[in-house]
Amino acid sequence: MTTTRSKLNFSSGPAVLPESVLRNAQTALWDLDGSGIGILEHSHRGPEFGRVLDRTEAAIREVGGIGDEYAVLFVTAGATAHFTTVPASFLGAGETADYCHTGVWSGKAMTEAKRFGTVHVACASDEKFTTTPTTARWSAAPRYAHYTSNETIYGTQWAAPPPGAPAPLVCDASSDIFSRPLPLAGHGLIYAGAQKNLGPSGISLVVARKDFVATERADLPPLQRYGTYVAERSLHNTPNTFGIYMIGEVCAWIREQGGLAAMEARNRAKADVLYDYLDRSETWRAHAAPGSRSMMNVTFRGPSVAAEEKLLAEAERRGMSSLRGHRSVGGLRASLYNAFPAEGLHRLVELLEDARL
Ligand SMILES: *Cc1c(COP(=O)(O)O)cnc(C)c1O
Repeated sequence: MTTTRSKLNFSSGPAVLPESVLRNAQTALWDLDGSGIGILEHSHRGPEFGRVLDRTEAAIREVGGIGDEYAVLFVTAGATAHFTTVPASFLGAGETADYCHTGVWSGKAMTEAKRFGTVHVACASDEKFTTTPTTARWSAAPRYAHYTSNETIYGTQWAAPPPGAPAPLVCDASSDIFSRPLPLAGHGLIYAGAQKNLGPSGISLVVARKDFVATERADLPPLQRYGTYVAERSLHNTPNTFGIYMIGEVCAWIREQGGLAAMEARNRAKADVLYDYLDRSETWRAHAAPGSRSMMNVTFRGPSVAAEEKLLAEAERRGMSSLRGHRSVGGLRASLYNAFPAEGLHRLVELLEDARL
């Protein structure tokens, strides 16, 4: 997890990717696997791309520990599309789905679900979204229970999936998928836009239990049915072939790094450097409460907006990019996805220390 780049990219997404993956992709753009044709130029029905699809799925299954009861799908859309497709597929009029409300993204997911059925808020963060819930009141018979494993904007993360849901869990894992072991038990469907930890934007990885998909509405258009992706192996129409290639390369890189347990240990160590500093600082303070803090997106505030602006200007001067918090909440945010280099934390702490009042 080192880089030869001097620029540090703290972007929340699209975000930093492993250097070796980007270098291999440069080669593959020109010539995929020695075929004499680039990845962007190969037919999605040809044998060369077929091998890319095979090895990508195999790497995802191996890294994620995903068995045959789950389908691995590549949907040509970001996570936002699933805010709609999930309730359209699984929630009918007169039915209830349970949602855990932890911030901006779960709010958007609930807004969509309300168009199809009843949304029951089973649990919610505190008003300022500094915590993940510790208890839940599930409804009697929900179709599914939805949660956002990592709140990218507020910087909170579930330590473990919400316990005790009386229905399959559906998880928006966009900003922490494959940053730690995948907790598959109890899940009917996990979706993740690729641009935080897996690859380019505009494509999402879906890990779906086949028997849960079998309960979806059958009268939706084909591209809005998970079952179409299962039955046709994400090849109903031309998929994002480059995105699939990139996700495969990133997963192979994760495997080389020692897999998801090793990834988690490194991510925790990286985030700890920053949280430890923030907890000691009298100038900068972490937004999220201990126990709910995200390893992926560390949100923090300065003593004033002016101090934050000064820090951002100095960060740019030192080659540290995209530390500004999300436009909806302000403040500062350091996104530390899998490929973010550990040495970058020391540069950030040095910056914060130098930019004190
Ligand atoms: C980034 C993000 C999204 C939105 O992804 P799009 O690709 O823009 O649709 C949804 N949920 C979470 C948790 C995210 O981090």
